[in-house]
Amino acid sequence: MAKLDIITLPDRKLRMRSAPVERVDDEVRKLMDSMLEAMYEAPGIGLAAVQVGVPRRIITIDVAQREDESAEPDPLFLINPEILWTSDERQTAEEGCLSIPEYFAEVERPAEVRVAYIDRDGKKQEIEANGVLAICLQHEIDHLDGKLFIDYLSKLKRDMVIKKFAKQARLGPKPPVL
Ligand SMILES: [Zn+2]
Repeated sequence: MAKLDIITLPDRKLRMRSAPVERVDDEVRKLMDSMLEAMYEAPGIGLAAVQVGVPRRIITIDVAQREDESAEPDPLFLINPEILWTSDERQTAEEGCLSIPEYFAEVERPAEVRVAYIDRDGKKQEIEANGVLAICLQHEIDHLDGKLFIDYLSKLKRDMVIKKFAKQARLGPKPPVL
């Protein structure tokens, strides 16, 4: 599969609702491998298929090197993920998104989640997470429903970000910095 490009605001695909995967086959596994490669290269800790322009319910995540740079890669592949439970306790953390480059803002979300998904072998799995992984799971699952982390901000802040990216797209790529 050719190298995947990550789409950014204001690409309207980011607002699409992704379709469930019917069958986990080699094509799906190949897509996930290419997504993982694009995610590591970005670099990022999570990627939804729609961010490479493929509106299917597929996510790759690896938070291993987030806390310890020398840690071995520990990728997670989630197909048709579904949030089963969220804690009442909430946490606030700064988030960014590969599709909204160089913009970061604080978002409040449930501190713990339990998620059901299908793994790359087609087996049903469940995962319970807190900390960065819990945030990442919620952020990526939001992508599958066309939701972005800026949707949690005030309308004023969100509109500013959307405007900034729309303007950038009109002006074309930034000139090189000399
Ligand atoms: Zn994102």
